[in-house]
Amino acid sequence: MNTETIIKRIAIFGSTGSIGTQALDVIAVNPDKFAVEVLTAHNNDELLVQQALRFNPNLVVIGDEKKYTRVKEALVSKGIKVFAGEKALEEVAVMDCYDLMLAAIVGYAGLRPVLKAISNGKAIALANKETLVVAGDIMMRKAVENRVPVIPVDSEHSAIFQCLVGETRNRIEKVILTASGGPFLGRKPNYLVNVKREHALQHPNWTMGPKITIDSATLMNKGLEMIEAKWLFNLKPEQIQVVIHPQSIIHSMVQFEDGSIKAQMGLPDMKLPIQYALAFPKRIRNDMPRYDFRKVSTLNFEEPDVKTFRNLALATDALNKGGNLPCVMNAANEIAVFAFLRNRISFLEMTDVIEKTMQNISFIEKPTLEDYFESDGEARNFAADLIKL
Ligand code: NAD
Ligand code: MG
Repeated sequence: MNTETIIKRIAIFGSTGSIGTQALDVIAVNPDKFAVEVLTAHNNDELLVQQALRFNPNLVVIGDEKKYTRVKEALVSKGIKVFAGEKALEEVAVMDCYDLMLAAIVGYAGLRPVLKAISNGKAIALANKETLVVAGDIMMRKAVENRVPVIPVDSEHSAIFQCLVGETRNRIEKVILTASGGPFLGRKPNYLVNVKREHALQHPNWTMGPKITIDSATLMNKGLEMIEAKWLFNLKPEQIQVVIHPQSIIHSMVQFEDGSIKAQMGLPDMKLPIQYALAFPKRIRNDMPRYDFRKVSTLNFEEPDVKTFRNLALATDALNKGGNLPCVMNAANEIAVFAFLRNRISFLEMTDVIEKTMQNISFIEKPTLEDYFESDGEARNFAADLIKL
């Protein structure tokens, strides 16, 4: 069989976001390799329609049901099917019309469709790290049962995944997750107490959706990524180390039993890990700018300041204790970031909300999927009450 001629049929869940739009950029320049079959958006009907008219998918889903008629009217003459509402995401996730789901919805909202897709044997290119933070054990177990590959899109995990190619028989001593440190690297609490949302939304190296940009400023993003790494690579908490690397050229590293360290490097551009995940196991040629060692001569590394960026300490605690604690932490963080983005709480109050929620929701050591759903709801309610949302 000539594999060159097989076109992968892609479903992009969260196509209007930062990852979704960059994935469409990758697909647009590789029409011989990928076809877009499914696009989904929460609110942005205009962009969804524009994308659908350009990429001609089999179907689209608009989350906001009030926008159904508008989307339908714009696409019906093109023969593109239109669905609406939260439940539709799960229904579409099990359809036969696609091969690989790019999970690019932000937050807990992406979990159910991903689980459905895995149960139905679909390969997953995973950007939506919160799914693994919430229910990583169940998700990875289902993936193994259904022989479904979960290919990371997150740049650090893509780096680790790439370092591990050809190393299946070799034990990992540890993984080193690099972190840019975000816009407030080197700052102390007396500075952070006054930072506003506009300031926190300025990330030095990456342009991303608002939630992950705030998570990067608080270092919660790196905390979520430690838990993500645990499940993706089957690691013990003590095998996961975080190091600050402000230039974001080394995307992460793996240290093996002999002390040898492999790093994956490149300019920071999410299109690279997106393209790798979509095309895996192949690499595709592209015209993106290359990193030139002769031009930039310094790469710096330092230990993260967990006393100032306490979210990373809270996430390490959740990683160590496990059970439903990462799920609870994630829910409280989603509420806290939502409130911060609406100027309802301050930068440092986000950490207080997360910490109090983690202390108050009852711990479950071996949660079922239902337990995770319940813990998520309880934690959201508790955090929202604290903020008086
Ligand atoms: P974004 O906010 O730009 O886009 C989110 C997408 O999800 C949009 O298409 C939106 O319509 C959809 N969405 C939002 N809420 C939804 C809901 N309740 N139900 C259904 N759909 C919903 O986010 P992003 O930056 O593209 O991030 C997406 C995911 O990828 C996140 O989990 C993030 O942590 C991860 N990620 C992003 C980057 C990045 O560079 N942006 C890097 C690594 C990982
Ligand atoms: Mg990342």
